[in-house]
Amino acid sequence: MKFISWKKVESWKCISCGMCCHSYDIILEKNEYKKMCKMFGNEIFNYNKYPIKYFLKRRTNGSCIFQNISEGKSKCNIHQIKPIICKIFPFFILSSYNKKLSFLYRKKRYNIYLERKCKGIKLGNPSNEFIYETLPEIINISLNPILK
Ligand code: SF4
Ligand code: SF4
Repeated sequence: MKFISWKKVESWKCISCGMCCHSYDIILEKNEYKKMCKMFGNEIFNYNKYPIKYFLKRRTNGSCIFQNISEGKSKCNIHQIKPIICKIFPFFILSSYNKKLSFLYRKKRYNIYLERKCKGIKLGNPSNEFIYETLPEIINISLNPILK
């Protein structure tokens, strides 16, 4: 991965290219694993033993088993319940303070960076829309993954 601070991003809009459903291991939170296990059974996961980590299986071509390409656009077959890492991609929020990544929202600091390879990113000075709409929405999704 190649990371970039939110401070170098003018705007972001997903163009449904599907790269993120094809190029990465999708690591699941424990509650996500339990929920998906109940719905789909154990066959949809790969896992690491030490430390224990669960991933969504990938097809032989590398794509996530839930990726669906239709008319050149990538869709997720489990959109409503997809893992949090998918919901907020290409954004990541660090728990430890980092001045270069720090973003103030409702009196709290969030340390936000993006995966540079996402084709929906436009570099530049952050636009008002990016600061006042996109970043707050990402933070809210990360805080309330069930609701979004
Ligand atoms: S890589 Fe970026 S633009 Fe492409 S589907 Fe993923 S989030 Fe959307
Ligand atoms: S769960 Fe959905 S969004 Fe996440 S990688 Fe798989 S297809 Fe893409």
